[in-house]
Amino acid sequence: MSHSSFSHSTLEPPERANERELARAWPEWEPSDNVPRTGYDPFEWEERFLVPYAMRTRLSRGRLHDEPEHPYRTLYQRDRDRIIHSAAFRRLMYKTQVLVNHYSDQHRTRLTHTLEVAQISRTLARQLRLNEDLTEAIALAHDLGHPPFGHAGETALDECMAEHGGFEHNRHGLRLVQFLERRYPRFPGLNLTWEVLESLSYHSKRPDAPEVKRFRTHAQPFLEAQIVDAADSLAYDTHDLDDALQLGLISLEEVRAVPFCRLAEERMRQRYGQVGDEDYPAALVRTLIDWQVEDLLWHTRQRLASFRIRTVEDVRRAPEPIVQPSPEIAHLKAQLEDFLRERVYHHYRVQRMTTKAKRFLRRLFKAYRRVPGMLPPFFYRRIATEGLEQTICDYLASMTDRFAHDEYLRLFHPYQRE
Ligand code: MG
Repeated sequence: MSHSSFSHSTLEPPERANERELARAWPEWEPSDNVPRTGYDPFEWEERFLVPYAMRTRLSRGRLHDEPEHPYRTLYQRDRDRIIHSAAFRRLMYKTQVLVNHYSDQHRTRLTHTLEVAQISRTLARQLRLNEDLTEAIALAHDLGHPPFGHAGETALDECMAEHGGFEHNRHGLRLVQFLERRYPRFPGLNLTWEVLESLSYHSKRPDAPEVKRFRTHAQPFLEAQIVDAADSLAYDTHDLDDALQLGLISLEEVRAVPFCRLAEERMRQRYGQVGDEDYPAALVRTLIDWQVEDLLWHTRQRLASFRIRTVEDVRRAPEPIVQPSPEIAHLKAQLEDFLRERVYHHYRVQRMTTKAKRFLRRLFKAYRRVPGMLPPFFYRRIATEGLEQTICDYLASMTDRFAHDEYLRLFHPYQRE
């Protein structure tokens, strides 16, 4: 008796049939132990495939600590891989995007948001023939510095640090990848290229903080960083809308009244015909993303031409970022963001979560300040060089929502054990 539906006796054994199919598809293909090398050289590929104004290994300012070149991965491929293998990247899984992690199992976390941004950024980079490896590395790193509990956590830490330089997530991201990650015996941090560090500095709202200022050497960042910025913004607008709909924070009627969504609905109808309520959120999100990516590509190409961009230096000297949506889309997007702010980010259920989160972090901060000996040894040792408050801030900002929550119970709940 056979367990396969392809068991008719006249058929050849599957492995022979496959070989013949392959030979038909690729006549020159001959199975052999002696597989010819492809001759693919990523460094040469960068030079040949990318447009002249793309960043490439040859133009990089390199890494702070010298390391031998890898035989077959470019600098930026290595950056991307280092980020994926970092502990900070894994912790994104338990960090809030907008809705606190334990709220449901379906909504976006910092990690899935990051993956969506990376995916959209790579599409944009490849279409524009920019450096996809660098773009991906920047996208995967762009939110590493977020503290637990999203923007509420950021505000709480900024308040705790008011007299010690404040807190801002990009600045913390720079501290994480340069000093707090421990992966290599000879140096702290991930030793990423200047370009990835530079991209984090351009997102920062604290351009004068010493960690940030060092990397802001030009009027504009290169195009790969600009792409991630645009992809980040279009990704969170659309997925926050999706999450809020799915979790019932907002209704379909409310969403349909937003001009951007109303216009997207017309496009949806052209593509799918009538869309039922159950299929509406996914179809809407897909349409909004497709539309914005298309618009971004089209408008960016126009701007590359009108600003006469020929080199990376032209991009850096430009009076404004080159990668931008068209004015029509920018306007619709701004209206959508107003709606999200009012109806989602300020929703009473979200406010309750964020208020509680802030209270957690403030109380933890005070508790460590009162008894610094409660800090784990790696952080405790850093007090001597970083100061007490900065060290506590580094520790708290590195936590996941889940860890901060457990730590709060451990420190304040009388019956909670270590
Ligand atoms: Mg982001």
